Amino acid sequence: MDLTLSGKYEALQAEVRAFIREHGHKSPKVGGPRRDPDQKTRDWQKLLVEHGYAARTVPREYGGFGAQPDVLEAAVIADAFAEANVSQGLANQGISMLVPTLLEVGTEEQRRAYVGPTIRGDMFWCQGYSEPGSGSDLASVQTRAVLDGDEFVVNGQKIWTSSAHFADMMFLLCRTEPEMPKHAGLSYILLSMKTPGIEVRPLTTMTGRAEFNEVFFTDVRVPASQIVMSRGQGWHVANVTLKYERLYLGDANKMSVRLRKLVDLLQTTEIDGEKLMALPEYRDRLLRIQGEVMAWRAHQLRLRTEQADGVDSGVKRLIVKYGGTMLLWRMSALAVDAVGAAGLPYDPSETDDATAANLDYMFDIGMIIGGGSSNIQKNVIGERGLGLPREPKTQPAAAGGRA
Ligand SMILES: Cc1cc2nc3c(=O)[nH]c(=O)nc-3n(C[C@H](O)[C@H](O)[C@H](O)COP(=O)(O)OP(=O)(O)OC[C@H]3O[C@@H](n4cnc5c(N)ncnc54)[C@H](O)[C@@H]3O)c2cc1C
Repeated sequence: MDLTLSGKYEALQAEVRAFIREHGHKSPKVGGPRRDPDQKTRDWQKLLVEHGYAARTVPREYGGFGAQPDVLEAAVIADAFAEANVSQGLANQGISMLVPTLLEVGTEEQRRAYVGPTIRGDMFWCQGYSEPGSGSDLASVQTRAVLDGDEFVVNGQKIWTSSAHFADMMFLLCRTEPEMPKHAGLSYILLSMKTPGIEVRPLTTMTGRAEFNEVFFTDVRVPASQIVMSRGQGWHVANVTLKYERLYLGDANKMSVRLRKLVDLLQTTEIDGEKLMALPEYRDRLLRIQGEVMAWRAHQLRLRTEQADGVDSGVKRLIVKYGGTMLLWRMSALAVDAVGAAGLPYDPSETDDATAANLDYMFDIGMIIGGGSSNIQKNVIGERGLGLPREPKTQPAAAGGRA
């Protein structure tokens, strides 16, 4: 097999490397803290969009670079950034989940209003899906939106809403047709987090940081035009977003970046005067992980190729969230073992390697649950992907739930 790049891709690689040589010093720290992005991060994002290294295939009329999907181009760009240890830009619920949803099922007005500011990092989104009684069984959400003239009036509560404490906007799954069967009674609405009647209460996770929130709605008025598709079609739209959420959470580029960090850690950390990289038990674990990251990357290229060709990837797509988040967690477990006792005086406000390793480890457990827990993912893979019999009826909804 000849894996050398052809002229077109070699030229792109040279172009990206030249860009990084000229501008790389402006990059925020790779894998930096998961917080409200600072000005440096926002400026970097704009520069990447302008040069087509972020939002490359988003059409120009919506603020993107307008390139045709090209799997190898995407891989060449990602590799050049990873090898230089430079940030590949923002990935979040707006950019990675809402933007592709609007491109797939949004109206022209919604795309023009929201895609540009979101990809440039000027507009941040949160996902209003889960409720205290509706997580895996997502279609049972109870937050109500009642049409009053040309506005919806929203009442109810969401929970585990990541980033709601700094988000500008929310994509909300709510019940608009209570008389309909549960999946047919939902709508998907876009609303500003500054609308009167919204209260955000932070929840602290085991990392020690307040990363998600409870969100309460009391008579929140939203223009009816903010609905995506139409009343009762919210379940369909929510599942379009969930499709992109699973790909986002299991993204192979994120793993390549994490692998690089892990290699650096094992090369610089010592026990009894010996580098961890020289110790067979660490090297063995690292090599297994490296093999899986490479396989995951090849899998992602295959999925992107199929997506560009309009092919339904079926079970190959369904394994991404489960496999990707489990692999990320094993990577952070190796980092925790590597930093050892240095991680014990854990303080989430610090940014040293030992803190970062422990923080990633605890955050990554959350990612195994967020976006649909592993149990549910396995049900989905079994039932939808492999055609196995459905769970007995006595169980709560599985593959019909947060899949
Ligand atoms: C870090 C983090 C960030 C999150 N961010 C967001 C966000 O931004 N927006 C948002 O809307 N939500 C968010 N969530 C919520 C997340 O989507 C839910 O936690 C998840 O869908 C599970 O729902 P639940 O917590 O209600 O658990 P439950 O649905 O009550 O499940 C409890 C347990 O039972 C298992 N279980 C349930 N049903 C079945 C079944 N049929 N078969 C087998 N096992 C089953 C589950 O796997 C789980 O282990 C986040 C969660 C985390 C951890």
